[in-house]
Amino acid sequence: MREAIHTVFLYHAIKAGMTMGIVNAGQLGVYDELVPELKERVEDVVLNRTRADGDNPTERLVTFAETYKSQGRHVTEDLAWRNESVEDRLSHALVKGITTFIIDDTEEARQKIEQRGGKPIQVIEGPLMAGMNVVGDLFGAGKMFLPQVVKSARVMKQAVAHLIPFIEAEKARSGIAAKPKGTIVMATVLQCNNFAVIDLGVMVPARKILDTARDNNADIVGLSGLITPSLEEMAHVAHEMQRLGMTQPLLIGGATTSRVHTAVKIAPNYGGITIYVPDASRAVGVASNLLSDELREAYVAEVAGDYEKIRVQHANKKGPALISLAAARGNAFKADWQHYNPPKPELLGRREVRNVDLAELAGYVDWGPFFQTWELSGPFPAILEDPVVGEAARNVYADGREMLERVVDGRWLTAKGVIALMPAAAVGDDIEIYGDASRKEVALTWRNLRQQNQRPSGKPNYCLSDFIAPADSNVGDYIGAFAVTAGLGIEKKLAEFEAKKDDYNAIMLKAIADRLAEAFAEWLHSKVRREYWGYASDETLDSAAMIREEYRGIRPAPGYPACPDHEVKAPLFELLQAPKIGMSVTESYAMLPAASVSGFYLAHPEATYFAVGKIGDDQLDDFARRSAISVEDARRRLAANL
Ligand code: SAH
Repeated sequence: MREAIHTVFLYHAIKAGMTMGIVNAGQLGVYDELVPELKERVEDVVLNRTRADGDNPTERLVTFAETYKSQGRHVTEDLAWRNESVEDRLSHALVKGITTFIIDDTEEARQKIEQRGGKPIQVIEGPLMAGMNVVGDLFGAGKMFLPQVVKSARVMKQAVAHLIPFIEAEKARSGIAAKPKGTIVMATVLQCNNFAVIDLGVMVPARKILDTARDNNADIVGLSGLITPSLEEMAHVAHEMQRLGMTQPLLIGGATTSRVHTAVKIAPNYGGITIYVPDASRAVGVASNLLSDELREAYVAEVAGDYEKIRVQHANKKGPALISLAAARGNAFKADWQHYNPPKPELLGRREVRNVDLAELAGYVDWGPFFQTWELSGPFPAILEDPVVGEAARNVYADGREMLERVVDGRWLTAKGVIALMPAAAVGDDIEIYGDASRKEVALTWRNLRQQNQRPSGKPNYCLSDFIAPADSNVGDYIGAFAVTAGLGIEKKLAEFEAKKDDYNAIMLKAIADRLAEAFAEWLHSKVRREYWGYASDETLDSAAMIREEYRGIRPAPGYPACPDHEVKAPLFELLQAPKIGMSVTESYAMLPAASVSGFYLAHPEATYFAVGKIGDDQLDDFARRSAISVEDARRRLAANL
């Protein structure tokens, strides 16, 4: 396939990621024990109190939060747990995510078991699994969160890595090539549970996945997808498995997948069982059921029955009421072009922005989405004092800021971007971008979609082309295109973390690189408004105001709700000559490096983000005709909006 199909367990690592190393119980954030300055600032925000001095409470809290890590975290580590039995110590280390003593404790447990005539594998099957089960239960009960789980997984991985040479030696001694419980193509955490896992990595073609499954006699195939094009690819893999007469269970996971999507869109392509795995912590249970002679049949029947129910419910569900494409166009947003004087860019054409100062970008980071990455929900900065996830949020935030500092100080990443500001006009729902001021040669036609749902009265059916002056209006409008990345050079550090079996920091580094890429997009957009395009040369917004999008203009990004078609990234990157700064798009239209943002700049004061949502067959046909592709291709390309 193409894109982002990787393993369920890679997914697990990302979904499950991490934990905050709870250093000890003394660090639990009991409300009454908060530093008074913090408590006051938090209450201002949470209780929406206005301040006598007129300061903005949110900004005060953010400012304070930035200093919080250095001031608030000096907790002396309580080492009383070191006096417990080795089994209890292992469990404690796993639950709290502490790696400090894990090798010594694992070794002690191994010797203890071997002295009693046991085998090294029993350290995993016994105390380590017992500890991981506690983690699983706490996570399942909502008492532990993703950052903590990833830290626990890091402890587990290091313990298992220590034991592997002993397990291998023992197998060799006993002369039995111990038979693994089953072979699974793709994954990571499963290895801890005695499954042989073949991880093919990302962007693996369907062919290679299925050949690998056949050549290794795999018992299960797992797919994980991160962006919407991989959903279609997963359906294709299922279809191929059917065509090749395969029968193995197919596991589906990853950020964009869901149980409904798996049941409705993927499972019907394949005669074998297809199962959605919501996060990696469930994969071991699912795999064990599937490979158990006693449990398999009932389990498969149960899942198949469930999915059939989901399909029936889905078929009976009515979508939103759609109006015809013609009616939607009749209700387009109508800008007053006759009284509009489009600002002419100071800089027409292409420009690279190289080696941007990471320290400057750091000031533009929007921390809100960072917590979503770690599956902690709530607005920043109030999330830091949330009664449920507050402690987890504070810890992961402190770790994130520390990582940001290391990235900036150590120059771990290189940021590069490219923009192009060009003449443009709307032609129906398309936006034509011209090579030069003569407006004769079309460099890129960006085919947009229009909202087709029945809108409340007075609200238009938006399309992004509504914000560019039409070709027949005699108003010479402009558009911008951009691509930025903060992910250049990331592989080296990721490899270092991975070699140390430190998934937590590997995931953290990716999360920080993503934040820096978004910050770069924000920073560059502001520079474009003030200088390169220059229509807001007197703009004085600070970064918080920018995050609130208080500026004039928008920067819609392909794959997002106003322009869900990812494929325009290919001609966009060509227009920008993005490969010159080390950026590319994959066959399934993901960007490389992963920590990248690309899109268009629209300058009209009324330009706004919106969601296209569901479209009708009339618009599907129209899009296919305009794009000169088959309806079938258009259907695949716009699947998420059908
Ligand atoms: N400040 C946030 C921005 C998140 S949205 C952050 O740091 O993550 C990321 C980007 O997606 C925006 O900057 C914009 O380029 C684009 N975007 C947001 N909403 C959109 C929509 N409805 N349609 C198209 N693009 C959108």
